Amino acid sequence: MSQYKHVALIGLGLLASSISLAMRRAGMTARITGTARSKATRDTALEIGLVDAVFESAAEAVQGADLVILCVPVGAMETLAKEIAPHLAESCTITDVGSVKRAVADAIGPHMPRGVHFIPGHPMAGTEKSGPESGFAALFDNRWCLITPLPDSDHDAVERLSAFWTALGSNVELMEIDHHDLVAAVISHTPHLIAYTMVGVADGMNKVAKTEVVNYSAAGFRDFTRIAASDPTMWRDVFLNNKDATLEVLGRFTEELLALQRAIRIGDGDFMFDYFTRTRDIRRSIIDAGQDTDAADFGRIKPEK
Ligand code: NAP
Repeated sequence: MSQYKHVALIGLGLLASSISLAMRRAGMTARITGTARSKATRDTALEIGLVDAVFESAAEAVQGADLVILCVPVGAMETLAKEIAPHLAESCTITDVGSVKRAVADAIGPHMPRGVHFIPGHPMAGTEKSGPESGFAALFDNRWCLITPLPDSDHDAVERLSAFWTALGSNVELMEIDHHDLVAAVISHTPHLIAYTMVGVADGMNKVAKTEVVNYSAAGFRDFTRIAASDPTMWRDVFLNNKDATLEVLGRFTEELLALQRAIRIGDGDFMFDYFTRTRDIRRSIIDAGQDTDAADFGRIKPEK
């Protein structure tokens, strides 16, 4: 499978910087061009060598690229797609890393010229950090990249894009687009909303002082705060664009929370014990699948660039 010769990164934050570093680690020699909204981000990206050239506009950044990757918040995708459409090279591949797939496909698809291969994607890898200096080459290692081809996506273009993500360290899976949104709602979007809520609750409890919340934070709460520190723009856009699936999962969550609330009220220890035993098994399965380690986490080790 031939490698891409020129990759354009639109948006130069966590995802784009990790893609650039992982490409170089994999020995890819493609020219990398890019753009971001602010001059500060563009300058940093050039200075630290994430890109060979930066441009003020996305239209300039995509000129001559055979792979364009949209690495911006979901809500910014449509405007950018419209802007770059007339400047895309014939038969180039355009993909994205957005956390929601149906809304992004509907926002970008109609603007794509004939002959361009538009294939939505979502690397299931990230951190709560943002910006061009937050990326690291190992971000995608052993993480799943879900590619959600459209019914008319070109088979060879999908294979080539899959090979690209595999070279970056990902395990690649093709997934139907609406199913992706439901899966993402269960394993990523709703957990983020719950973390935001729990931290909001602690912040709003006037019987517990803020210093107590900060100083005595137990490991579980600290994990919630890490998640709840994620980029507000990105996550606002996720919930605005994955409404149905998130609401469906939240409905289930609320029902189960009420069942546990009742168990606490009536002292049904067996119910709780069985429930917590089942959830512990899920944790074991994740570790067995190599998606996390068993080590106690007293603060994460900073990943190497
Ligand atoms: P990020 O670090 O905040 O970076 C976003 C980048 O997009 C920044 O460079 C920003 O430029 C640029 N940008 C925003 N609006 C723009 C516009 N209108 N035109 C041009 N550039 C624009 O975000 P990220 O974490 O890399 O996330 C990017 C995408 O990846 C999102 O769609 C998100 O859903 C998806 N994703 C994120 C994660 C995660 O854990 N973070 C995981 C998987 C997928 P400035 O710096 O100048 O503002």
